Amino acid sequence: MKKKINVRLISIAAISIFLTMFLVIGVFYDLFQKQIIEDLKMDTYILKESGVIQNGAETDIIKTYSAEMDDLRITVIDPEGKVLIDTWAYTQEMENHQTRPEFIEALRDGEGTAIRKSETLSQNTFYYAVRMDNGNILRVAKKASSLLDVFGKALPVILMITAVLIAVSSIAAHMLTKSLIAPIENIANHLDEPGEIRVYPELVPFIDTIQKQHQDIMKNARMRQEFTANVSHELKTPLTSISGYSELIENGMVEEEHITRFAHEIHHNATRLLTLINDIIRLSELDATEFENTFENLDLYGIAKSTVEMLHMNAGKHQVSLYFSGTEPCIVFANRQMMEEVLYNLCDNAIRYNNVNGSVWVKVHMEDDHPTLVVKDTGIGIPKEHQERIFERFYRVDKSRSKSTGGTGLGLAIVKHIVAQHHAVLTLDSDTGKGTEIKIQFPNPESFRKEAEIIVTDDQ
Ligand code: ADP
Repeated sequence: MKKKINVRLISIAAISIFLTMFLVIGVFYDLFQKQIIEDLKMDTYILKESGVIQNGAETDIIKTYSAEMDDLRITVIDPEGKVLIDTWAYTQEMENHQTRPEFIEALRDGEGTAIRKSETLSQNTFYYAVRMDNGNILRVAKKASSLLDVFGKALPVILMITAVLIAVSSIAAHMLTKSLIAPIENIANHLDEPGEIRVYPELVPFIDTIQKQHQDIMKNARMRQEFTANVSHELKTPLTSISGYSELIENGMVEEEHITRFAHEIHHNATRLLTLINDIIRLSELDATEFENTFENLDLYGIAKSTVEMLHMNAGKHQVSLYFSGTEPCIVFANRQMMEEVLYNLCDNAIRYNNVNGSVWVKVHMEDDHPTLVVKDTGIGIPKEHQERIFERFYRVDKSRSKSTGGTGLGLAIVKHIVAQHHAVLTLDSDTGKGTEIKIQFPNPESFRKEAEIIVTDDQ
């Protein structure tokens, strides 16, 4: 990039230098031409006023005058165009001058000028003509350098100045590029240190975005690393048990009467493994942005009711009473499978982290124009210091209770993900020993459907 900026700056400098030179030469040449015509005009009037050419015979005097006056060519032409006197040529050999522009002009207006190219490209001939009192035309001419000649003569100087200027601009371009690039290099080296980067004010929003993205990437990478470590650890425990129990059986080290118990342990751990793997797969599906979900208008009341019915047996096993209430229908714009998962995970937790003879209430209703789901229990509650973290993957307040009741530590992480995808708001209210209430407020289906449709179209 540095090289590119350098090359561009130098090219711009070189082009500007050449253009300026050409323009300056052009302007000067124009002035130079005007000056020559001015000089010729003066010479012509002096000659005219001096009267030396009145009678047309004083050619010697005229020749001397012409030689003294910078090699001027003096010509006298009669009104018919016949050359009477010429200091550079024999008048007899000269053609009629009737058609010469300076002659025509002088005859008509009293004075005329013309510039003509000479035989050689390097010179132009300048003419100035006046009508004398006797009607003859007095013309004075002079040869002078053409533009090409002036340019040719100036070229070495131009090239030298250009070379010097290009050298100076190269150094300036180099220094300028360096100072331009320095803050950008600074960004690359200090991405991790917010506030450390000093750049142009125009770059500040850009840096902020990059830094934010960089932090997000780092955070994601760290989370993924932690997740992978946690997954390996979680999978290892049941697998170690399965391997250990089966090895004992294989080696005939288990007495006949214990075989069923060992088989039960193996079965229990294998089921746990399957549940874990299912949850992990589900989370990665939810993570994948390209995964397409169908959103539709659903009756949350119906879904909640059937989930509660499905979990009645489970609640009975834990000696927990499960109640359901609400207003029908309660329409949400949502994905059916995700709604079932949210309900299942919340109700399952409310049962598992409950006390004997405890209760769970599931309620679906409209609150402030928002479809709302509330799952409330009279269970063990969640200590305040853990409340923020229970939505993290594999975070559990009481590890052994979670594991013994078949928990994976992923249920609430899945719930959080789904809630976010539905633009819903989750609130947690829990007291140790008293119980927990989780409330999810969904957006009004009408406004949300429009938003979701836009998102779905964007993804395609
Ligand atoms: P798990 O599979 O361990 O239940 P979750 O992600 O569903 O994982 O929940 C994370 C942790 O939050 C649980 O281990 C538990 O400690 C706590 N928790 C979740 N729901 C409740 C609840 N209703 N009452 C008390 N604690 C709860």
